[in-house]
Amino acid sequence: MTISFDEWRARSPFYDETHEAVAQSVRKFMAAEVLPHIDQWEEDGELPRELHKKAAAAGILGLNYPEEYGGHSEGFNVFHGLTQSEELAAAGAGGLGASLMTHGIGLPPILALGSEEMKRRIAPEVLSGDKIISLAITEPSGGSDVAQLKTRVERVGNKYVVNGQKMFITSGMRADYMTVAVRTGGPGMAGISLMLIETDRPGVGRTRLDKMGWRCSDTATVYFDNVEVPPENLIGPENGGFIGIMRNFNSERLGMAHGCCAMARVALKEAMDWAQTRETFGKRLGAHQSIRIKLADCARQIGATQAWVDLCAHQHMQGKGVPADYAMLKVQATRMLEHVVREAAQVLGGASYITGSKVERIYREVRVNAIGGGSEEIMLDLAGRQMGLG
Ligand SMILES: Cc1cc2nc3c(=O)[nH]c(=O)nc-3n(C[C@H](O)[C@H](O)[C@H](O)COP(=O)(O)OP(=O)(O)OC[C@H]3O[C@@H](n4cnc5c(N)ncnc54)[C@H](O)[C@@H]3O)c2cc1C
Repeated sequence: MTISFDEWRARSPFYDETHEAVAQSVRKFMAAEVLPHIDQWEEDGELPRELHKKAAAAGILGLNYPEEYGGHSEGFNVFHGLTQSEELAAAGAGGLGASLMTHGIGLPPILALGSEEMKRRIAPEVLSGDKIISLAITEPSGGSDVAQLKTRVERVGNKYVVNGQKMFITSGMRADYMTVAVRTGGPGMAGISLMLIETDRPGVGRTRLDKMGWRCSDTATVYFDNVEVPPENLIGPENGGFIGIMRNFNSERLGMAHGCCAMARVALKEAMDWAQTRETFGKRLGAHQSIRIKLADCARQIGATQAWVDLCAHQHMQGKGVPADYAMLKVQATRMLEHVVREAAQVLGGASYITGSKVERIYREVRVNAIGGGSEEIMLDLAGRQMGLG
């Protein structure tokens, strides 16, 4: 008996034939629209805008978003979303999911806290792939201590005027809209608001950042220089943005943890395929006991992490998720991925070091998972505080 990329779903109580249908549909999209081009996009440093429209047409961008805002929610739940991101991971390029699906972090604050007019104006354009939206929280002065962010907003007459900088913003070079965390009030978390900023407003500037991994995902530093924004662009109440940011982090961390499991399975599959054909010392590599043990140990760690992801996803669906769990789960998943891709690279030997192999790419993407969306230290500290320490 062998373990294939997606076979685990068939044995999980959380997945059924409807999830399999999503998997097959995304797999078709990947074969036709992504796999032939992904290496080129990695070189280009960004995804083509048409890909968003094609992904929308294939039902990918709108999956599990409300029908009234251009999504498809009928019959879908969080596990369909996880299935979809698993299939998007098959290319072994994490930048694809990060950039094609950036609306997964940019849009939810609008849908949760925005005015009805804003939801109807923004969501359909994004879910149809016509417009791209980013989430801009991190600043050059630091991303971990969100409560200290400095991008300042003043009320001048009937307008807001925004000044400041954002850093490491995914899809930031191509974004038409940004959901931006700004300071409208005093110090700390009670002075933070969320604001929609259109990137064609005078005073918005951006520069591209080159990166170790996620290379097909464009990443930007964004500058706001006296940008005038109408009051109706406020997302939720003034000075009430912090809760929206925190809520967003929970689903982002769950998604990232699942993404790590998916990427680890891709790396393991590459190593397994190699071990079945490569011969050393007169027999298949996989027939050496130490290699068998190494790869089975990777499968053990992926399985254990996936079980926790699925449990957290189930709790998330029922509104019973606990922030400490998402935080610890993300650390578990990134450390697991770090181990699995290291072992996979070891099994592939020199071949893993050549640019363009899936394992080489995933190896370069480990750190962004361990840092982005809340770094390991911050995640474990958050969990420790929720455990009543400090
Ligand atoms: C490719 C990429 C894409 C990203 N996309 C986005 C995006 O779309 N939107 C967005 O807003 N942000 C984005 N980020 C930013 C990301 O969320 C931040 O990098 C992350 O939150 C950490 O912030 P920082 O890099 O400023 O590190 P810092 O906050 O400066 O921390 C540096 C290091 O010190 C550690 N540290 C900090 N404080 C403590 C402490 N008290 N105790 C112990 N250790 C501590 C941290 O864990 C970290 O390892 C992205 C980052 C990357 C690399």
